This record gives sequence, C-alpha cells and structure tokens, in this order.
Amino acid sequence: MAFITINKAHFFHNLDVLCAKAGGKTKLMAVLKDNAYGHDLRLMAELASEYGLKKAAVKNIEEAEMIADLFEEVLVLVDHPTSQALSASISLAAHSYEALQALPEGTSIHLSFDSGMHRNGINEGQIEEAMALIHAKKLCLRGVFTHFRSSDELNSEFFWQRANFERAKKRIKALIEHYGLPKTSFHSCNSAGLLRTRSLGDDDYARTGIAMYGYTTLDPLIATFDLKPVLALWAERLSTRVLKKGERVGYGSVYEAIQDELISTYDIGYGDGFFRFDGYLPVVMADGSLSKGRMSMDSFCLGGDAPNVCMFDDANPLAKQFHTISYEIVTKLAPMLKRKII
Ligand SMILES: *Cc1c(COP(=O)(O)O)cnc(C)c1O
Repeated sequence: MAFITINKAHFFHNLDVLCAKAGGKTKLMAVLKDNAYGHDLRLMAELASEYGLKKAAVKNIEEAEMIADLFEEVLVLVDHPTSQALSASISLAAHSYEALQALPEGTSIHLSFDSGMHRNGINEGQIEEAMALIHAKKLCLRGVFTHFRSSDELNSEFFWQRANFERAKKRIKALIEHYGLPKTSFHSCNSAGLLRTRSLGDDDYARTGIAMYGYTTLDPLIATFDLKPVLALWAERLSTRVLKKGERVGYGSVYEAIQDELISTYDIGYGDGFFRFDGYLPVVMADGSLSKGRMSMDSFCLGGDAPNVCMFDDANPLAKQFHTISYEIVTKLAPMLKRKII
C-alpha cells in the first residue's frame, strides 16, 4: 500500500530555524491549513504542539475543531461568518466590514487588514468604522493581521506593505485605547516574510506554513536557509511483467520497449493527488529511476521490480517540471494515503 512518511527530525529542525529567526516558540503561529499542506492535519498539529508551539492557523472551522484541543489559539483563515458554537481556542478571520456586520456578538476574531494585496481585509479608510463596530458588537479582537503578496520576490513590495501595516497598527492601537479594549496581537509575516526580515519588529508573531514543511520560494538572492523537506511519498509494486521489444505500456501507448525489459506497476496515480504525467517527459523518482509511459488514475510504471519506490522526498524538482510551486505538489496529496512518522 502506498504511504507517506513524515520526518519528525526534519520538522523540528525547520521549526528550530524559524523560531531562531522569529525569537522563540511563542513567536510562531503554525499554519496547518489544507490538511497541513497535505501532510495530515492532526498528525502535524500533534507534532507542532509537542515541539511547544501554542498557536495554529487552519483553513476552516472543520479543520479548527479537529485540533482545537492542542493549542491556545486556532485561527480560521478562510471561512464564512457563522453563529455556530465554537471551541474556546478558535477565532475567525474577519476579511471585510461586511463580515464584521455578519458575525454574531462576542465572536473571537482576527481583523484582516488590506495593506496592498487587495485579496482580503478592510482598507485604511475603514479602520475607524471597523473598530467602532467591533466595540459596539463586543467582538473579541484577538488579533489584527495582514498578508504579503510578494514577500518571496526580489523587489520592495514587502517593505511597502509593511509600512502600510505599521501605519494601520498605530491607528488601531489608538482606537483600542480609545474604546478601552483589551490588548490585541498583530501579525503579518508568512514564511518568506519571516525569513527575509532581520526581526519581526513589533509584530507579536509570524504565521509560517511552507517553511515548516521544508520549503521556501524566497528568491535565493535574498537569502538561503537550510530547510529540510518533511514529507516523502512512497508507492508499492502491484505487479511485474516482461515488456517485449516493440510492446507499449499504458494509456495512449506512449512508452515503447526498445528491447525486452522488466517493468512493474506501482500503486499511486493522479487519483492520489500526484500530478498526472502524460508520459512524454519522464518523472524522476527519488532514486533517479524514470517513469515509463503515462500515469493512470491509480498507478504508474517503472523499470525493474523493486518492491517500493520513493516517488519524491523533495517537491522542488516536481514543482519545476509541472510549472507550479512546492506548495501545490504536497497540498494535493490525498488525505486517504497512510502517513507514518519516521
Ligand atoms: C497560507 C497563509 C500563510 C502561510 O504562508 P506560507 O507562505 O506557507 O508561510 C500565512 N498567512 C495567510 C493569511 C495564509 O493564507
């Protein structure tokens, strides 16, 4: 049966790198959204909690409830206002003034501020009315945050957005004082933001996702880091045969044996969340062997008869081949695949 390995030592190593950069374990919010970037939400949440992290962020309420017992704070990044009862550790990102209006009184929220990405958040001109509404509705403002659109790129947008957030912070802090609201936390950096800065400034923590899992898309001209990929994907052999010279294997008969050869079929396909390859350009396995022919929904072929094959233990070459980013290679992996900690 195909399986995924999760390398605990690598995960803790990456957390060491990030905590050193951020200034300690209290300065990281572990981003565990989308099944912990395909690694397995509950398993990675348990490891993050064992390491000593106290805060996490997830996609939706369903994910939040799955790990609410493990953290002091679980932020839901992408869900809609709801009157559903939530565990005490859960708070919801409020991405617009309309969301503030729709949220029931007393809900714990993190206010999202648009510092320039224009994907979500209230804008500068809405700060006064948003804070007045938060006060009037007795919303519990646990945090105020923004998100960078180009923190991994070699340009100055990160600094422009950061300056916009700093300006907003000042006004929000003044309004918190004005209304006598409790102190709140401010956060902005994702992995690349944290890795490229000298310090978090007066942000309370960073929200790190991809770097915990061992990857960064940060331009190497800015900085490079010793991060170690946490996940590896393994397939198991289903069957073996001799492909005679001139015979072709798989859909579309793309691969032809130029001489008699031993060939085996393995139990992972695009239904497991691996990118479908069309067979015209082979995919290189972790041991250097090359896929043969086209990938099926549940299987693919390789030369030889090894009982297992590691399809990848580093998503970067695959990301390059499929014109995407490491995020997508790992996040797509099916939740059904068994995960083993090694
Ligand atoms: C996904 C996400 C993050 C984490 O980003 P990484 O690049 O994986 O570190 C942080 N904040 C928000 C709002 C996100 O959506």
